[in-house]
Amino acid sequence: PVYLDNHSTTRTDPRVVAAMLPYFSEIYGNAASVSHRFGWEAAEAVERARTRVAEWIGADSKEIVFTSGATEANNLAIKGALPALKRRGDHLITAASEHKSVVDVMKRLGREGWNVTFVPCDETGRVSAEAIEAALTPATVLVSIMAANNEVGTLNPIREIGRLCHDRKIVFHTDATQAVGKVDVDVQVDGVDLLSLSGHKIYGPKGVGALYVRRRDPQVRLQPLFDGGGHERGLRSGTLPVPLIVGLDKAVELMICDKAEDSTRIRGLRDRLEAGIRGRVPEVQLNGHPTLRLDGNLNLSFAFVDGEALMMAMRDVAVSSGAACTSVEPEPSHVLRAMGRDDEAARASLRFGVGRFNTEDEIDYAIDLVAESVGRLRTHSAAWSA
Ligand code: PLP
Repeated sequence: PVYLDNHSTTRTDPRVVAAMLPYFSEIYGNAASVSHRFGWEAAEAVERARTRVAEWIGADSKEIVFTSGATEANNLAIKGALPALKRRGDHLITAASEHKSVVDVMKRLGREGWNVTFVPCDETGRVSAEAIEAALTPATVLVSIMAANNEVGTLNPIREIGRLCHDRKIVFHTDATQAVGKVDVDVQVDGVDLLSLSGHKIYGPKGVGALYVRRRDPQVRLQPLFDGGGHERGLRSGTLPVPLIVGLDKAVELMICDKAEDSTRIRGLRDRLEAGIRGRVPEVQLNGHPTLRLDGNLNLSFAFVDGEALMMAMRDVAVSSGAACTSVEPEPSHVLRAMGRDDEAARASLRFGVGRFNTEDEIDYAIDLVAESVGRLRTHSAAWSA
């Protein structure tokens, strides 16, 4: 089978695995143990990672909090920021096209009495700074807008939105999980106060991520999600997963080294995939922005096919579908809906995520399978035959 689901998760790079291994069985100390070498060595590795992640996004190492991933980082950023902001206002802004780990946090806050505006995205999935500006009220205290969308790959104008918020002293959080390492992200230039990222989207291990928290800013004073030993400057108690953090460090190092090469190659493969499919399959619609999009992303809707049947037919190529993102929620994708796609188009969509380890042969195999499957399924469609 061919793996083309790199927005969902990526294979851990073998170089990352190699870097992690000694931290399981040789350098296994607790990074919080200050009285012996085992602890010091673990702590040193953690601080090296912290510095690398910080420099990568234009931050200071004291501004990085390690978490279990982006879901936790998003929760900590948004829920953590609100207690200090409550006095100033009760209005929050996000977008309908955000990841569930932001949308559902915001929905909960809405039930708890916060006033939440979900601004619409346009038909390409992009959220404009104008839409944010139009939603602002004197009570707005926090805006959360993702840097790149995980389903359609569309890039948002984070810098414009960041500056808009910065000028008005509104806290700006961005979920940059899909964007970091692929597009330039700099928390200073972009005016970002809180930024979430995750290891397993960048060829690092699952179960580790980070939150950037702007320092020396009276607006940005986070409350932790849980209490305990006071690790991570009190923001994230719990023994640090040193091997995972070392893996994140290595993953970031590789993202930096390989960026230009990965980007050109991945974009080339993605374009080959799109051209190959379009050359053989009529009535295909692109979901996402034609140019302002992640290199590896291709999200297509196929008219006149049943989404579930298409997904079944694609079993040998791992992709995601707009039909059933997760088994617990067999709804058409909320992102495609927010972009104005009808349920049928949303269901009959496939998300391809090209990554570092894909080859031309794999792309060609995927093109063949898509062309054959869609062709066959359409022969069963009365509307197509008509
Ligand atoms: N935010 C976005 C945009 C994502 O794509 C994902 C991945 O599913 C997450 C958040 C959640 O990340 P994690 O799996 O690290 O919790």
